[in-house]
Amino acid sequence: MILKELSEAVGVSGKEQAVRQIILKAIEGHADNIRIDPLGSVTAIKKGKRSKGRPRVMLAAHMDEIGFMVMGFESDGLIRFTNIGGIDDRILPGLRVKVGESQIPGVIVWTPIHKNNDQNVVKLANLRIDIGATSKDGASGKVKRGDHIVFDSYYAEMSPKILRGKAFDDRVGCSLLVDVLQGGPYPVDVLAAFTVQEEIGLRGARVVAQAMNPDLAFALEGTTAHDLPNPSGNPDDDDEPNPVTKLGSGPALTVMDSSVIVDPRLLRFLRTTAESNNIPYQLKTAPGGGTDAGSIHRANAGIPSAVISVPCRYIHSPTALLNRDDYDNTLKLIQAALNNMSADVLKRD
Ligand SMILES: [Zn+2]
Repeated sequence: MILKELSEAVGVSGKEQAVRQIILKAIEGHADNIRIDPLGSVTAIKKGKRSKGRPRVMLAAHMDEIGFMVMGFESDGLIRFTNIGGIDDRILPGLRVKVGESQIPGVIVWTPIHKNNDQNVVKLANLRIDIGATSKDGASGKVKRGDHIVFDSYYAEMSPKILRGKAFDDRVGCSLLVDVLQGGPYPVDVLAAFTVQEEIGLRGARVVAQAMNPDLAFALEGTTAHDLPNPSGNPDDDDEPNPVTKLGSGPALTVMDSSVIVDPRLLRFLRTTAESNNIPYQLKTAPGGGTDAGSIHRANAGIPSAVISVPCRYIHSPTALLNRDDYDNTLKLIQAALNNMSADVLKRD
């Protein structure tokens, strides 16, 4: 598992090269046709061992992470910035960031009271980044407009089971896909896609799916776990299945989100595969959010797609948490699905 290395790499949407380098190195010798597509996604094919009639199964994980971009400079040296991807402004004040190629350290500050009128609401437009400069020239001498900004965060094992790190959405998917390629071979052809620019609209996956044209696809994700605290505060509600996901309850299988209705044949196949292999799983039924499956299923003449996710607390923040058992069980489920996949899975009733 190369999750630590992937988590600590910087790869805001559109600038995924550091993540790409790690992945290229890790999959070398484990797949054929390793390519970088025109938008920057990495694609590779791991040929199946069945002699003929092999379904072509795409596994997609996105390399990019949310972050920010430098917009301009104040006369006092503070930096104006905007978001790249979905970010809750309220979590930002006080966070450490790294700015630009040379990773200049900075802190997100809330503009002083005399500069804005609605201090009751944290809004990105009212936030600035302090890199220790005291003038516009001082700041613009160190970083440039358009530079990317990323959370300054470190990977840690909080316990043998609980791992903490940046960008588990979706470096956990990338790490799983690397493990899948390093394992096998499988009966089917595995079409691996490490995609770019998911966080700003599932863009890289769209062209990858069109180019590779698989028979079916699974998006591998790190998804929201909203299991703390109990939203109702009522301990009796603990039996109610969480509509999002819970740490430690196994891989999450999406039923529907805002980007895709998962193909019911693939969902049924994943559920029966998990059950017959004694792999715990949970269903994700919360609306909202999207994954690369949202682009993939609409590519070409339509590609049946499903989403398999590792539950992660606090995604889209500097510090996500995941459970190592969930990681291992997700890998088991993906590999069992590849080993049991046949053309029959997509037969209509
Ligand atoms: Zn994601």
